[in-house]
Amino acid sequence: MSDDQYKHRVVIVGGGFAGLGCAQRLADHDDVHVTLIDRNNYHQFQPLLYQVATSLLSPSDIAHSLREVFAGQDNVDVKLAEISAVDAAAKTVTSTDGETWSGDALVLAAGSQPNFFGTSGAPEYSFPLYSLDNATNLRSRILGLLEQVDRNPRLIERGALTFVIVGGGPTGVEVAGAIADMIDVTVPAEYHDFDPGDARIYLLDRGDALLKPFSDKAHAYVAKVLTSRNVQLRLGTVVEEVGPGHARFSDGAVVPTRCVIWGGGISAARVAADCGLAQGRGGRIDAQPDLTYAGTPGVYVVGDIANISGPDGEPLPQLGSVALQSGVTAADNILAEFDGKARRDFAYKDKGIMAMIGRGAAIAEVGKNHHEVHGQLAHMAWLGVHASLMTGTRDKIEAIIDWGWDRFSKTGGPHVLDRGDAAEINWDDDPAVASAGTPASTPSSS
Ligand SMILES: Cc1cc2nc3c(=O)[nH]c(=O)nc-3n(C[C@H](O)[C@H](O)[C@H](O)COP(=O)(O)OP(=O)(O)OC[C@H]3O[C@@H](n4cnc5c(N)ncnc54)[C@H](O)[C@@H]3O)c2cc1C
Repeated sequence: MSDDQYKHRVVIVGGGFAGLGCAQRLADHDDVHVTLIDRNNYHQFQPLLYQVATSLLSPSDIAHSLREVFAGQDNVDVKLAEISAVDAAAKTVTSTDGETWSGDALVLAAGSQPNFFGTSGAPEYSFPLYSLDNATNLRSRILGLLEQVDRNPRLIERGALTFVIVGGGPTGVEVAGAIADMIDVTVPAEYHDFDPGDARIYLLDRGDALLKPFSDKAHAYVAKVLTSRNVQLRLGTVVEEVGPGHARFSDGAVVPTRCVIWGGGISAARVAADCGLAQGRGGRIDAQPDLTYAGTPGVYVVGDIANISGPDGEPLPQLGSVALQSGVTAADNILAEFDGKARRDFAYKDKGIMAMIGRGAAIAEVGKNHHEVHGQLAHMAWLGVHASLMTGTRDKIEAIIDWGWDRFSKTGGPHVLDRGDAAEINWDDDPAVASAGTPASTPSSS
């Protein structure tokens, strides 16, 4: 079909779960042309970023070319561009290099960004885990520290094997468990002088439990698994300051470290502030029940960038399943509008929540009634669900091979130090550590 034969045009900003779900649904309609714009030419599977950061999976296992997804669909045009301005009323977006795209409908699906809540030094010195770039950066920092300690064990006293993880939600818990597994299993197999007892892993959360949305029984299980793997829990504690070589906790401890991992919260992607639409909680744009933005026909907000109300009127959590389903419903409503039909309200189908805590340990609440399972069974459920959600058969097969390798082998996955800048450290750049001395010890909260 030639360009001018399309009856309708849709512009989508963001090729994450929400934007991709929307574009895939619209792609089946030959009279609709879709322009899918993303700052990356790939879709990234965020739930598995921590596995790239801890060398379990390769970046290519969790990133899938957007062009490949739509290779057989001429009506979907992928554009690599960073959107910096949105005119919602005109349904037009503009990129940082000045190109504009307009449509009969506009879908904003630009996701989230890390929220450092004003914590001093966190944007400069901590390692967020929100993109593939973040994950490879963190992987190189972890591997760089292991390499430096291998040559100079005295760096351990200066925090070279101290990992501080901020946030006891799924990101923090999963990365803490994965680093503990690395330290216990894969690193000693590959670094022959390495002693796991030299490493310190701290996991901090301002609340009184890890994985808050789960049950009390689950909270106890997660705490037990992590402490048994030498993760030191600091509940009711926040990181107040991050420096080049230390983290200062709210209980007064100053911990020498070169690896603070930020899983402490998210807010709407920056473009939410650039579109002139009112921002609500978390900087997100409040969606109407049918996922449109009030008062601006043909403009939809979906996924993490939106506050989407659940059946109880409370905003739904920022989850891949919410994003995917909201993207598909937005597509259905766009098609309904094009056909002169009524839009329908978004009805989230909650299939449960799950989190991995480490080798053989996971927790899952499955089904509508959130039936809870722990341990190996939950681990298997987690593997199955995540493999099924991945885009592309090759990605699924490669991930399953890597998971199998991890399960039955002591050596790790791709321990590739490919980001020299992340691994480079000036050990004399932090006066706070010189005055603080050796790692602080404060009582564990668990
Ligand atoms: C570490 C981590 C672990 C998670 N684990 C789970 C889990 O186990 N289960 C679960 O359900 N959910 C999980 N989530 C949440 C889930 O990944 C998100 O809810 C989901 O990815 C949101 O989808 P989205 O499409 O709204 O946004 P995203 O997936 O963030 O996609 C947004 C897209 O927009 C693009 N973009 C942003 N700004 C611009 C711009 N200005 N111009 C062009 N493109 C732009 C980005 O490059 C990106 O591709 C996790 C999230 C993280 C970070």
